[in-house]
Amino acid sequence: MKILLDTHTHTIASGHWTKDTVTDLAKAAARRGLELLAVTDHSPSVPGAATENYFRALRHTPRNRCGVQLLFGVEADVVNAHGKLGLSDALLAEMEIVIVSQHPPCFPPASAEENTAALLAAVRSGRVDIVGHPDDEKYPLHAEELVRACAEHGTMIEMNEASLRPGGYRGNAKARDAELLALCRRHDVYVALGSDSHGAAHVGEFTFGTALLRETGFPAELVVNDRPELFQSILLAHAARRRAGCPFEKN
Ligand SMILES: [Zn+2]
Ligand SMILES: [Zn+2]
Repeated sequence: MKILLDTHTHTIASGHWTKDTVTDLAKAAARRGLELLAVTDHSPSVPGAATENYFRALRHTPRNRCGVQLLFGVEADVVNAHGKLGLSDALLAEMEIVIVSQHPPCFPPASAEENTAALLAAVRSGRVDIVGHPDDEKYPLHAEELVRACAEHGTMIEMNEASLRPGGYRGNAKARDAELLALCRRHDVYVALGSDSHGAAHVGEFTFGTALLRETGFPAELVVNDRPELFQSILLAHAARRRAGCPFEKN
């Protein structure tokens, strides 16, 4: 598979781990042969992250740098059991890509029932494109319920490279990711490889994600990273539903 896009990256606007800018990330993406790069900074719910004004200003930001097409969006925390996200609905409606994730400061790890319920509510709201790093050992999860909901709503499941890298801070992500891949295969759910690079260093790097895809024999047709047009068509359908304020139902 020729990787042409990265679905999950952070700039200095995320407030920690990097001072790299959008242009730094775009240069790294160009060097690594990517055509499309999603810039998904943390939602304002994360301490030290960008304010709503940053996300509002994205509408004025050029969509092409260094020959790489850019998509601007958010990695939004789910902040309660009802699936509320850490960015206002008005701004979510402007985002080109929305990843929903759970992070300890915003959604303290709870039981599998509570963790799953929050993600299910977010997916069922129709506001999210990708479930980010659902492989964190700190967050027990009913994986099949989540993947079934993703199948119903056309939501993608992320394989997060930062989780899979040896010594990654999300514990034994590989076992959960292998389970998720088996479920995505069974329920026909698209998988998105996201580097979760904070800064330019790991943009477009998928050594461990692609190794796990090979190891599990995961079907290439369910991975979006070699098909920017397919990926964008999925995102455009979701964005239209976000703007219309109604959930996305697959068929
Ligand atoms: Zn995250
Ligand atoms: Zn992230």
